Amino acid sequence: MKFKQLPALALALLLPFAAIAEEMLAPPSQAPSRPKNLVIMIGDGMGPAYTTAYRYFKDNPDTEEVEQTVFDRLLVGMASTYPARVSGYVTDSAAAATALATGNKSYNGAISVDLQKKPLESIMQKAQKRGLSTGVAVTCQVNHATPAAFLAHNESRKNYDQIAATYINSNADVILGGGQKYFTASMRAAFSDKGYQVLDDFSLLKDVTQPKVLGLFADVQLPWAVDEPEAHRLSTMTRKALKLLSQNTQGFVLMVEGSQIDWAGHANDITAAMGEMDEFAHALEAVEQFVRNHPDTLMVVTADHNTGGLSIGRDGKYAWEPAVIKAVKASPDTLAKNALASDNWQQPLGDALGFALSDEQTSHFEQARMQGKKVLAQAIKHEIDLRSNTGWTTAGHTGMDVQVFASGPGAELFIGNQDNTDIANKLISLLPKTAKK
Ligand SMILES: [Zn+2]
Repeated sequence: MKFKQLPALALALLLPFAAIAEEMLAPPSQAPSRPKNLVIMIGDGMGPAYTTAYRYFKDNPDTEEVEQTVFDRLLVGMASTYPARVSGYVTDSAAAATALATGNKSYNGAISVDLQKKPLESIMQKAQKRGLSTGVAVTCQVNHATPAAFLAHNESRKNYDQIAATYINSNADVILGGGQKYFTASMRAAFSDKGYQVLDDFSLLKDVTQPKVLGLFADVQLPWAVDEPEAHRLSTMTRKALKLLSQNTQGFVLMVEGSQIDWAGHANDITAAMGEMDEFAHALEAVEQFVRNHPDTLMVVTADHNTGGLSIGRDGKYAWEPAVIKAVKASPDTLAKNALASDNWQQPLGDALGFALSDEQTSHFEQARMQGKKVLAQAIKHEIDLRSNTGWTTAGHTGMDVQVFASGPGAELFIGNQDNTDIANKLISLLPKTAKK
């Protein structure tokens, strides 16, 4: 008997069995082919020199091998970062975040708008239409360029107040970072009215059990990680965001940013940069652990661009001395501030830098100190650079490609060379096809 001649009833009975048989024959696999949850992690300014420097910074020099970092473990590919033609080859964080959030290139300064300044739908908006929860956790103000491109649309990243004012309509379930000064009492009340918990005390975050939370934990950006190494703010916010968002059985999209790697790069501050890298690495490990326990989650990590032209070695010398950086007990900003606040600053500064200041260094710092905090911080950074053999080429961005790291179902899509817009388009292709009913 031919299949097509089967009576309708028999077909109806057979088909479910065929489906079950096919399922039984499919290769056993723990993880589904399509992820339910997406975690996008962005190391702002984290070009390849940063992950390399971090490896040697973390290396135990007493063992023969150079130990792998979480970045080494998860590396799968590279991505170009150039913005729309009108802005040349070197992107800013806004155009790069627009590419990563929407899959479209735009001009430097654009917050998820196209060249005509028309809104581009972000992965967060697409995810919400499909019934997924969304969130961001960052160490800058939450309305800074990278998170803004995921939650808002604006013709300029500089319109901080306008961007913050639109967040009430972003419908993001979790918004964690800094930026109290941009959210007025009436804006916060509007969030409360919409069912959000609004927090500005980091210690209260641990008690939050329901999504719909706006946590603003600093006036502008969070403190340098190197100044409070035990705080682990980014990894704590990341773990909390994962916990809250995973309450949605349909899935979620979370964007996590190590925002101030870039700021350390702009400031040519290797001490702060390694502190921010360490905390971003902690956040990666938290997500890596979540992926292990939730095989339906895909994590994709990249940078938006490279900052500072960091070089591991300088002045023709074949050497880099991370032990010098590890010995520094606070950020140069904080060391300079402390030195200005006390007449008896020489000994404490030497102690905090991990070496006794020579007479020449003391008089050099003394001259810098008389010109104020900024100049003294510069002098301190320069001394650390010379001793550790760290180089910089610019206070801005450079156009080199960045790395792509991934783990979880769909990670193989990110292997090899790609453009930053491809990263977003691949992630968007992994969202459920059907809209929320
Ligand atoms: Zn930057």
